[in-house]
Amino acid sequence: MLGGGQLGRMLTLEAKRMGFRVITLDPVVDSPCGQVADEQIIAEYDDPQAVADLGARSDVVTYEFENIPLASVQALEEEGRIVRPASRVLAVTQDRLAEKRFVRGCGVMTVEFAGVACAEELEAAFTRIGFPGVLKTVRGGYDGKGQWFVRDVDEARKALSQGSGVPLIYEQFLHFDREVSVVATRGADGASIAFPVSENLHDRGVLATSIIPARVSPLIIERVRAAARVIGERLGVVGTYCIEFFVRGEEIFVNEIAPRVHNSGHFSLDATQISQFEAHIRAICDLPLVEPELLRPSVMVNILGTGEGDHLDGIPRLLTDPGLKLHLYGKTHAAVRRKMGHFTVLAPTLDEALVRAEVGRKILHWTAAT
Ligand code: ADP
Ligand code: MG
Repeated sequence: MLGGGQLGRMLTLEAKRMGFRVITLDPVVDSPCGQVADEQIIAEYDDPQAVADLGARSDVVTYEFENIPLASVQALEEEGRIVRPASRVLAVTQDRLAEKRFVRGCGVMTVEFAGVACAEELEAAFTRIGFPGVLKTVRGGYDGKGQWFVRDVDEARKALSQGSGVPLIYEQFLHFDREVSVVATRGADGASIAFPVSENLHDRGVLATSIIPARVSPLIIERVRAAARVIGERLGVVGTYCIEFFVRGEEIFVNEIAPRVHNSGHFSLDATQISQFEAHIRAICDLPLVEPELLRPSVMVNILGTGEGDHLDGIPRLLTDPGLKLHLYGKTHAAVRRKMGHFTVLAPTLDEALVRAEVGRKILHWTAAT
């Protein structure tokens, strides 16, 4: 496993349940994944010796976040190691421009966009696309980092100066009705499955809540699932991936592709009979895939740090809800907006799950350690 965060941790827990052994590579000592893996190689992701060592000791290599240096994955492939998904998937999804061009090449809509490498290109971009817009770094962004929402020429120029030096993309800001995502898994034999479509609520660029099933029409469900299948096939992904969409009326627009398990699929640990993590492990190990079945309507709530302390208050009260499953990631410091854990509420109806999820959210508070 390249990467030691919570996604790696949940992948590892599922892999361990299935009897596999896991070695993770991450620079941080006692990483969320390292705590549960058989072993952790403590090294930078671009340390050639450490990456080669991981490859030599593994039957199959995977990754849990898309900002792993492409060269590290390519080096493993050149040594004849099996890496899933392959480096060509990473190459497309690490680059917002390449990704959007790729999506359009699949016949699926995206918002209007333009590459911005200098002030002249920015003028051309907002002249064509208009305001409001979002200026983003082409590479390396996540959880809303490296993004500037801009309403006019002055704000656009200011954003450019803040993000200058790195390639940027200017996107039309879409006034969408809903955001949804499809988590899907594809095997090396081309077999593919998809998880129930999730409706996602973000707070300043960070996922706050996922609602399953998404409150959209059957037509939208069909469209996003079809788009996710085509994109996965054309990319040749082996493993679990996620496509985020904006929905406006009956139109769908791909926002981005994650070549990995995804926060909006965490409900599957508790709400479907197979999780996105198990599906990924099965796919990369050439085991059969089965279609996920939603056991009950569910709502997933992210537990984010607030900077007010590292002690999470309210857990005993939270756990009195009989349909609630709590997942904490083993991180010791609850920095502002850091993903510390999540919980999923399963209920007989979606309305009830929504109410109980909000009750749960209000119970939890970060305080100084006692
Ligand atoms: P990240 O890699 O940080 O997840 P995203 O491009 O998915 O970056 O942006 C995070 C969130 O910001 C999106 O889920 C959406 O809520 C909002 N957002 C991003 N781009 C746009 C856009 N072009 N129009 C409207 N909202 C956007
Ligand atoms: Mg996103």
